[in-house]
Amino acid sequence: MVELDFHPSGKHFLQIPGPSPVPERVLRAMSLPTIDHRGPEFGALGRKVLADIRKVFKTSHPVVIYPASGTGAWEAALSNTMSPGDQLLMYETGHFAALWTKMARRLGLQPEILATNAADDQLPQAGAWRRGVDAELIEQRLRKDTAHNIRAVCVVHNETSTGVTSDIAAVRRAIDMAGHPALLMVDTISGLGSADYRHDEWGVDVSVGGSQKGLMLPPGISFNAVSPRALEAMKTAALPRAFWAWDEIIAMNQNGYWPYTPNTNLLYALSETLDMLLTEGLDNVFARHMRWGAGVRAAVNAWGLPIQCADPRRYSPVLTGVIMPTGVDADALRHLIHQRFDLSLGMGLGKLKGRMFRIGHLGDSNDLTLLAALAGCEMGLKLAGVALAGSGVQAAMDYFAAHAAPKVERRAA
Ligand code: PLP
Repeated sequence: MVELDFHPSGKHFLQIPGPSPVPERVLRAMSLPTIDHRGPEFGALGRKVLADIRKVFKTSHPVVIYPASGTGAWEAALSNTMSPGDQLLMYETGHFAALWTKMARRLGLQPEILATNAADDQLPQAGAWRRGVDAELIEQRLRKDTAHNIRAVCVVHNETSTGVTSDIAAVRRAIDMAGHPALLMVDTISGLGSADYRHDEWGVDVSVGGSQKGLMLPPGISFNAVSPRALEAMKTAALPRAFWAWDEIIAMNQNGYWPYTPNTNLLYALSETLDMLLTEGLDNVFARHMRWGAGVRAAVNAWGLPIQCADPRRYSPVLTGVIMPTGVDADALRHLIHQRFDLSLGMGLGKLKGRMFRIGHLGDSNDLTLLAALAGCEMGLKLAGVALAGSGVQAAMDYFAAHAAPKVERRAA
């Protein structure tokens, strides 16, 4: 049994791909006194976070903030734009894409699943979960839908279960090439704030975000960035919605307030983390995560273990999935590493359970914390009897030493 009052010395290494380690500056901001959510100070806070979060989504249109986990924001995206029985085209890149599809069914929608047909030696049961979206398949399917029955195309930007990203701009092009009016909905719950994302430029209609990944916040708030077309679709969408309804929230947000009690202390934290990200500059933030990803992949390659993402163009800057040799239980390995070294790693989800583990490289981290995490993995792999080709820690040290972090030009966004 896990003892809840167990506090080992030193810092726990939270290397799962979200919730990510929260900077102390953000934790301190959260400890400010809770204020009147109808008072003037709150209005100023609300207006600030609502303006700044748009910069992270790169949109000039509304972003709705919910006191909910990412799953709530998934539901909000669908219930605000769809009617019972509407058809969706949902691309299965991994476990989270599959869960969003399951939700669509529960809401009374008719999702059709597209998946890349990929033969795979290393993971025959999950070849499609090693690659990103193939936009051509989307274009082909939409061209066949001459009656325009498909109401939305739904894709996941950064599949947290696999460490594979998808090219969202290519999906937009595919929809346009097919001359199809479907909305484009994108889950960037684990991409936002770590991987390049452009809601307006990529023509996304609803972007779904979450707090506990690249935004370096605890779990508990989530987002819908909403295009004018999505707002138009809302007017005729007939799925029941109350708590999630955009119209009332957007109306109250004009003055920085919400129609219900918002998550005051998490909004303090959001304000703080937005200051951090926008002062560093989003391009610097993205470059920092890409460099961490390259260092971690250098380690996995040196171990001689396969990376879950089979397409180097789609490597995630947020996390790296590591496939275990047949016969090695990845969950037992994670358990051993947690017990011996106080390091948490992400588990294999859905059909990847027990076959792989995930190393998060996001949140309040740096080269040395990542090297420590890799040391924990390497020791654990050896203890579990996995034959390694070489030292991943050494390879990552060499990578980080040879590739200095770019000098950050601090700038206010
Ligand atoms: N989508 C993706 C890509 C995720 O990574 C997650 C959570 O990890 C979710 C959706 C679900 O979000 P939540 O667990 O915050 O409800």
